Amino acid sequence: MEPLNSPTDRHQARKRFGQNFLQDGAVIDRIVRAISPTGNHRFIEIGPGQGALTFPIIEQLAEHATLDLLELDRDLAAQLANQFSQDSRVKLHQIDALNFDFIKHRQQDDQALRVFGNLPYNISTPLIFHLLEQCSQLDHRQVISDMHFMLQREVVDRMAAQPGSKTYGRLSVMTQYYCAVEPLFEVPPEAFNPKPKVMSMIVRLQPFESLPISANNPKLFHQVVKAAFSQRRKTLRNGLKNLITADQLEQLGINHTARAETLPLTTFVEIANFLTTTSNP
Ligand code: SAH
Repeated sequence: MEPLNSPTDRHQARKRFGQNFLQDGAVIDRIVRAISPTGNHRFIEIGPGQGALTFPIIEQLAEHATLDLLELDRDLAAQLANQFSQDSRVKLHQIDALNFDFIKHRQQDDQALRVFGNLPYNISTPLIFHLLEQCSQLDHRQVISDMHFMLQREVVDRMAAQPGSKTYGRLSVMTQYYCAVEPLFEVPPEAFNPKPKVMSMIVRLQPFESLPISANNPKLFHQVVKAAFSQRRKTLRNGLKNLITADQLEQLGINHTARAETLPLTTFVEIANFLTTTSNP
């Protein structure tokens, strides 16, 4: 049997929900300080679990702030709903965060969202893509103003990677297109119960208010990046063969034998913009 998180807790950590509960008070303090949850903001926590971050955040929550909790595990969600039923600022959603409509939530109010969580590692990459794609859908208004996440260190390395590095890929390009990426600090396995097998890291993502480099058609840009990195080690021309010819790449001044993992964000945007003009004359 897995060790329990605390003597009063009867919840057994569920692997399929990626449950690794934070138990190190110093690490929790450091995360809360990084988030700095003061101010009348609208917060969303993904995967509150047993409330390791939720309780200390609520302690600092301003009077007119709100905190929406997205928890998939029914048992934990029921526990949390009970614990926070008296606090009108806090609302629990028993939901898969992958299905949560951040845009709709954002539209209920005129304030961009502040999202945080010790993410379930089994779904962290699709969750990040879900959030990034939502960042692109409200024209001229920010959906999310910042995100603080605990992730596997390797995932944070990929987010922050530069072209030419071994970890540079679709996640790096997509994250850096929408956000300033700031890896904050490492968290060792001992900070959790049960202990994950890997090192973890806190990252701060700040979506740009206006994108420094922007594609005319974000959907097409997503498609180009996905295709370019669909098979590592392929040349750009092969990866993009359903979208653009070698000649067209050369016209753009892009070497078609280059590999996607050596090319900067601007190149993918140039390709997407070229396709926007050719397919929608
Ligand atoms: N924040 C807590 C728990 C982290 S573990 C802590 O730091 O101790 C990850 C949490 O995410 C678990 O509570 C798990 O049940 C929840 N979770 C897993 N998949 C989820 C999903 N798809 N949507 C929302 N929550 C999810």
